Amino acid sequence: MKVRIGVIGTGAIGCEHAKRVSKVLTGAEVVAVTDVNLESSEKLVKDLGIDAVVYKDGHELIAAGDVDAVLVCSWGPTHEEYVLAAIEAGKYVFCEKPLATTAEGCRRIVDAEIAHGKRLVQVGFMRPYDAGYRMLKDVVTSGELGEPLMVHCAHRNPEVPEMYVTAMAIQDTLVHELDVLRWLLDDDYVSAQVIFPRTTRHSHSKLADPQIVLLETAKGVRIDVEVFVNCKYGYDIQCSVVGEDGVANLPEPFSVTTRKDGKCSRGILTDWKKRFLDAYDVELQDFIDGIKVRSLTGPTAWDGFAASVASDACVKAQESGEIVPIHMPPRPPFYNAE
Ligand code: NAP
Repeated sequence: MKVRIGVIGTGAIGCEHAKRVSKVLTGAEVVAVTDVNLESSEKLVKDLGIDAVVYKDGHELIAAGDVDAVLVCSWGPTHEEYVLAAIEAGKYVFCEKPLATTAEGCRRIVDAEIAHGKRLVQVGFMRPYDAGYRMLKDVVTSGELGEPLMVHCAHRNPEVPEMYVTAMAIQDTLVHELDVLRWLLDDDYVSAQVIFPRTTRHSHSKLADPQIVLLETAKGVRIDVEVFVNCKYGYDIQCSVVGEDGVANLPEPFSVTTRKDGKCSRGILTDWKKRFLDAYDVELQDFIDGIKVRSLTGPTAWDGFAASVASDACVKAQESGEIVPIHMPPRPPFYNAE
C-alpha cells in the first residue's frame, strides 16, 4: 500500500517535493496539501493532476485520518509547531531545515520524540544523500587518509535576494555544512569563530559577504568554510579533507569539457536546485521506504538540534568577533541505533 502524504507549505520546495513524490519516487502519493496561500495549494493539485484534498490549515491536515505522513515545507518559524503536532498524532514527519528556529525548539522536538518512544522525525538535510559526499565519506572512514586533520570548504552562490542579511549566511547557508561535516567526520563541534574579509561590491549594507567560518571539533579537526553568496560565477560547493596520509576532494558535478577558441572549459552550475537534485530524490525515497519498514534512518531530530546549537554559536561569533565555545550535550541513547 502507498504511504499517504500530506504537504504543509506549497511554496518552492513544497511543490518540488510534492512533484517528486507524485512523479519520480515510488511507494507514496500526495493525498493532502495546505498553505497560508490556499491558491498555491489548489494550483499545485491542478498542475500535478492529483486527487489531493486542500486543507485550510496544517493542523487539520495532520489530524486527517487518511494522512500517514507529513512533509513540513512551510516557512521556518512554523516548523516546530507542525512537527510537535505530528509527533503528538503519532505520524511520521519529514521537516525541511531548520527543524526549529532555535536550539531550544529543536530540543523540545527531541524530547517529544523520545517521550513518544519511536523515531518519527527526519530532517531535510539532503547532503548526506549526495553521491559525491557519500564517496568522500567512504574514503574518510576507510582510513586511507589516516586521521582527518583539516577540512577546507566553500559554499558559493551567484547571488541572493535583498532580504538576505548577515546572519542568514549561517542560518540558511552554512547550516548545510554544519550538518554534513558532522556526519562526514562523525564528530561534534566545540568552537566557532567568524572572520569578515573585505566585503564584495556586489553586496548591500545589511550583508557582510564573504565570511570565513572557523570550526574546531571534539577530535581536534580544524574546519574553515568560506561562505560567499554573491560570488557571481555560479553555485559552487567545495570540500577538501586533509588527512595524515593524503587529501580527498568532493567530486565536481558532471559537466562536458569543451575545447574551443584556444580555451579548454567546463560549465559550472548556477542554480542550487540542480546541484543536489538527485540527493533530494534519494532522501525522500529513503523517508518513504523507512516508513514502510517502520524504521527511519535519515538525519534525526538530534541532527537538527546539533546543527541548530552550532548555528546559534556561529551567529554569536559573527556578533562578538570572539571564539565562541559550542556546548553539545551527549547524544541520548535513543538516537544511537541509526
Ligand atoms: P517559500 O517558497 O517561501 O515557501 C514556503 C511556503 O510556506 C509559502 O507558500 C508560505 O506562504 C507557506 N507558509 C508560511 N507559513 C505557513 C503556515 N503556517 N502554514 C502553511 N503554509 C505556510 O519557501 P521555500 O524556499 O519553499 O522554503 C520552505 C522551507 O524549506 C524553509 O524552511 C527553507 O529553509 C527550506 N528549504 C530547504 C532547502 C534544502 O536545500 N533542504 C531548499 C529550499 C528551502 P507565504 O509565501 O504566503 O508566506
